[in-house]
Amino acid sequence: MSRPRPSWDSYFMRIADAASERSTCLRRSVGAVLVRDRRILATGYNGAPEGLPHCVDVGCLIVDGHCVRTLHAEQNALLQAAAHGVSTQGATIYVTSEPCLHCTKMLLNARVQRIVYRDPYEDALAREMRVEAGILCEQVEESAVDETPMGKGDKDHGRHEAGSPSET
Ligand SMILES: [Zn+2]
Ligand SMILES: [Zn+2]
Repeated sequence: MSRPRPSWDSYFMRIADAASERSTCLRRSVGAVLVRDRRILATGYNGAPEGLPHCVDVGCLIVDGHCVRTLHAEQNALLQAAAHGVSTQGATIYVTSEPCLHCTKMLLNARVQRIVYRDPYEDALAREMRVEAGILCEQVEESAVDETPMGKGDKDHGRHEAGSPSET
């Protein structure tokens, strides 16, 4: 009868994926979305700080095998929230790639309470730190479908803000 709808996690991960398309780094394209109560607080993608040239124009700035010019998607999402005076306390962050050590530390102190990522990124120390700090961290498939029966999962129907798919 009704077509399958993406789960909330999948929905926000798709938005994070759309943000990743704005990335200006040649090495990686990562997108992030900060969410609380199913409401988007801020978005981010990896790119050069304001006023600096983009990797896509001048090439990456590689140190020890990593591009050090860019701020990571998670950092840019947190900074966008900061610049606009939006609290990230208790938020969930959706990231297309598993957070690195630096981003993990920042997310912890920004009081983000849940990390949802799509692509695994091997960083043993970051993983260890997240477990130690007790922050929720899980991997989701972008294509996950909402299994919640209609009526239950729709209790917030009409309350969701900008970007909500049209209900039919
Ligand atoms: Zn770069
Ligand atoms: Zn990072």
